[in-house]
Amino acid sequence: MAGMTRAAVVAWIEAVAATIRTHKDELTQLDAAIGDADHGSNLDRGFQAVLGKLPGMAEQNIAGVLKGVGMTLVSTVGGASGPLYGTFFLQMSASAAGKTELSLADWTAALEAGASGLMARGKASPGDKTMLDALTPALAALKAAATEGASLPEALRRSAQAAEQGMLSTTPLVARKGRASYLGERSAGHQDPGATSAYLILKAAADTWAE
Ligand code: ADP
Ligand code: MG
Repeated sequence: MAGMTRAAVVAWIEAVAATIRTHKDELTQLDAAIGDADHGSNLDRGFQAVLGKLPGMAEQNIAGVLKGVGMTLVSTVGGASGPLYGTFFLQMSASAAGKTELSLADWTAALEAGASGLMARGKASPGDKTMLDALTPALAALKAAATEGASLPEALRRSAQAAEQGMLSTTPLVARKGRASYLGERSAGHQDPGATSAYLILKAAADTWAE
């Protein structure tokens, strides 16, 4: 089974930048309800900076590209999500070290490393109404798909579906981390912006492969 090449990883990053741009206002509106109305503009600034740096990463392998993405997000995205997504991509990079292609097992390991890094950095757990509420079910779906012998594109599709369900599941939750937690019970009834962007990132992976 063919894995994700360096070109596929770059295409995924470009698709992430495009979908963040498309959903920028929606992400900002979600953040307006339970935060400070900057999640869309934060991530758009970061991923546009990433797009600008991609040509300079032509000599980099998969791990090098993912590291470049992480470092660019850390240095350009304000707010909680910059260091969190930065750590996510840096840990994905470490997991992918030396690889020229990512199999389903490699992609799953990289995502798991990314999610674990994000969890360690933000000290959040699933159910706290954060990005992890989309990432954790997506990871479980990848593992289940691998156990069933699903192909990489099918596994990516199922992980995006699980991330979407996880994103939707954040609506009734009371936030326990980040700015939204300052609202206490009033944070319930709103979808989490970070879980929404995490879903978009994983949906972009599934869509990139489907093309
Ligand atoms: P800020 O809250 O600093 O304005 P953003 O608006 O860019 O940053 O990002 C907000 C999102 O970050 C939230 O919707 C949530 O998903 C995520 N988040 C905030 N704090 C944490 C944390 N400690 N762990 C994981 N995710 C978090
Ligand atoms: Mg915000």
